[in-house]
Amino acid sequence: MKKLFPVFTLALIQFLCSCQNQESSEKEMPTVVATTSILGDAVSVLLEGVDSVQTLALMGPGVDPHLYKPSQGDITQLSNANLIVYNGLRLEGKMQGVLEKLKNKPVFAAGKALNEGDLINATEFGGAYDPHIWFDPLLWKQVIKGLSEKLKKQFPQYLAQIEKNEQTYQQKLDILHRNTILLLDNIQEDQRILVTAHDAFKYFGRVYQIQVEGLQGISTTAEYGIKDVGLLADLIAENSIKAIFVESSVPKRSIEAVLNACESRGAQVVLGGELYSDALGGPDSNADTYLKMFQHNVETITTALQ
Ligand SMILES: [Zn+2]
Repeated sequence: MKKLFPVFTLALIQFLCSCQNQESSEKEMPTVVATTSILGDAVSVLLEGVDSVQTLALMGPGVDPHLYKPSQGDITQLSNANLIVYNGLRLEGKMQGVLEKLKNKPVFAAGKALNEGDLINATEFGGAYDPHIWFDPLLWKQVIKGLSEKLKKQFPQYLAQIEKNEQTYQQKLDILHRNTILLLDNIQEDQRILVTAHDAFKYFGRVYQIQVEGLQGISTTAEYGIKDVGLLADLIAENSIKAIFVESSVPKRSIEAVLNACESRGAQVVLGGELYSDALGGPDSNADTYLKMFQHNVETITTALQ
C-alpha cells in the first residue's frame, strides 16, 4: 500500500498539470483585437481557416466609434492582444489615450496603410484626415493588403493561408466596386446627392461622383444647430432631392429634424432607408460583413434616388 501512494501522487500531479496546461493554452490562444466591427471583419476574412488565432472586435453592431468609451474589459483585451487593429485616423476618438499607451505592442493602423495624398482633408476634425476610408473599396483594398502583410509577419506559420485569403478577397472587392458603379448608374445626374446624418460618405462620394451632405460633421461628437437643419432643408428643397437617409449608428432624430424642416418648405422628400456607416449590422441584418453592408447601402441608395 505504501508503494501505491507515490504512484497515486504522481498521477494526481500529472492530472493537475495537464488541466493547468489545457487551461493556459486556451488562455494563451493568440488573439487579434480590432476596435470596430468593420475592421474585425477584415481580420476575420484574412484569417479564415486559421483556427488557432482568434479575432475579437470591441465594438458590436450599431456602435458609434466616435463616441465609444473603452471599458476596463476592453483595456485588458487590448493589453493581452497579439495584434491590435484600429483605424488610426482618430475614428475612435475616446480611445485615443488608451491606444497611445499601447503603441509599443504590435499594432496595425488602417489609415497609415494609405498614402496621405489619397486621404480627404478634414480640417474641422482637429486638423486630421477623414477616417471613413472603408467607403472607397479601392482604398479598402490597400488597407486589406497592408493588414495581410502585418498578419503574415505576426503569424508566419499561416502565411500561405493568409495570402490565399487575401487574393480571393481582393477579387471580391474588385467585383463589388464594378457592381457599385453599374448600380449607381441608375441614378440620374441631378439626383446624385446623398444626404445623411453625419459626413461618413465623403470617400464614397468621391469615388462614385456623388455629392455628399451630412448634417453633422466628420465626427458625431459635433453638435448641429437649427441653422444647419435649415440649410440642409433648403438644399434638399432647391434640388428636389427625392430621399434622405438615417444611419444605423447615429440617433434618427437628427435626420427626422431635417425631414420636418423639409415638410415646412413643401419639399417632397422621404426617408430612403437606413444606411450602415460606421458599424456593421447584427447577425440577422444581412449587413454583418463589409461586403454585405456595402451592397445593402448601394442598393438602398439606388432604390431611393433612381
Ligand atoms: Zn463616422
